[in-house]
Amino acid sequence: MRAFGSVGGLPRTIASARGAYVTDVDGIEYVDLVGSWGPALLGHAHPEVVEAVREAASRGLSFGAPTEGEAELAELVIDRMTVGATRAVEKVRLVSTGTEATMTAIRLARGATGRDLLIKFAGHYHGHSDGLLAESGSGVATLGLPGSAGVPEPIAGLTLVLPYNDLDAVRAAFAAHPGRIAAIIAEAAGANAGVLVPDSGFNAALVDLAHAAGALVILDEVLTGFRVGPAGWWGLDPSYLPDLVTWGKVLGGGLPLAGLGGCAELMDRLAPLGPVYQAGTLSGNPLAVAAGIATLRLADADVYARVDAAAARVSGAVDAALTAAGIPHVISRAGSLFSIAFRSEPVRDYTDARAQDAFRYAAFFHALLDAGVAPPPSVFEAWFLSAAHDDESLERIEAALPAAAAAAAA
Ligand code: PLP
Repeated sequence: MRAFGSVGGLPRTIASARGAYVTDVDGIEYVDLVGSWGPALLGHAHPEVVEAVREAASRGLSFGAPTEGEAELAELVIDRMTVGATRAVEKVRLVSTGTEATMTAIRLARGATGRDLLIKFAGHYHGHSDGLLAESGSGVATLGLPGSAGVPEPIAGLTLVLPYNDLDAVRAAFAAHPGRIAAIIAEAAGANAGVLVPDSGFNAALVDLAHAAGALVILDEVLTGFRVGPAGWWGLDPSYLPDLVTWGKVLGGGLPLAGLGGCAELMDRLAPLGPVYQAGTLSGNPLAVAAGIATLRLADADVYARVDAAAARVSGAVDAALTAAGIPHVISRAGSLFSIAFRSEPVRDYTDARAQDAFRYAAFFHALLDAGVAPPPSVFEAWFLSAAHDDESLERIEAALPAAAAAAAA
């Protein structure tokens, strides 16, 4: 996804980043709309986050032993995932990447249910582990791949890929495989094939259907978690309880950190208390934990309000510029995440996302880049705003959009 495979040209090599801007090795500055693919909620190199990492580094880089910081971060996560009287998770396990978080959650679900099969949705991305690459979003979607070479058929065959926002397909899968499905894994809101907003009540219905069949639900908040709100996408409608939740990106504030959580009864099945193995030399790394704690402590209501306002302003400006240029398009928005699709009808699933004039994005993207604005280099990725996107940076984006829209029309 870092490659410019679908837009052409060469990716910029970045030398530094601060606030809303990245600077490449030629000294050219861009307003950044990628945010390291999500972590940079506060903007790049927030001074207090950098200072927290510096301070942690002065005390040692990695111990392979418990630290107070791990416990503090886990408690911050549990607090955030408690909305009113509803506590979504009781225990948290820290790992280093979102891929590990979802991989571990799936192993835990299989270990707890004694079942093998997994349901995932087409166009959702959960990292690069073997069982999750079928009809995946993100780079797999950008490159137009059906899956990945190197994944043995018996492993791929354990994943049932269903169309998103289609509860009948979920019912049919449970009916076709009685007693065999361990879990449904779903992005809390899809954001890896462009933004795919779940229908109202969809996530809650997944929980009901899964539980009726003795299966679990893994809500993947690696991308949405702590970004679209203090308690992620789940926190915007905490009317249902997923069994396991995964996080990454914002959780580590730009350093490699991710995690999963659930009720104590389930989480205690992980090693060392339980038989489901998980371990990692750098899990809960003290520098990453320090960045995560600083980020979550700084991400208050004002930060979320600013990110939401910036996203509304930029998505509105994109919409206006494409409309003025007469280009059929829709903007899909999930909280502060949004994406463009070059088609007239709404995008509900991966089939819709692929049925668009995606070629238009290359000209649009390069015109913005030439004007010093760096959106994601694929139409299948969400745009990421931050609390550091101030008037000046937003005005630069707005000024660049009309010419980019004209380029997309050509
Ligand atoms: N899950 C979701 C929803 C993601 O968006 C991603 C990465 O983009 C992952 C999991 C994998 O995370 P990582 O790239 O840290 O392995």
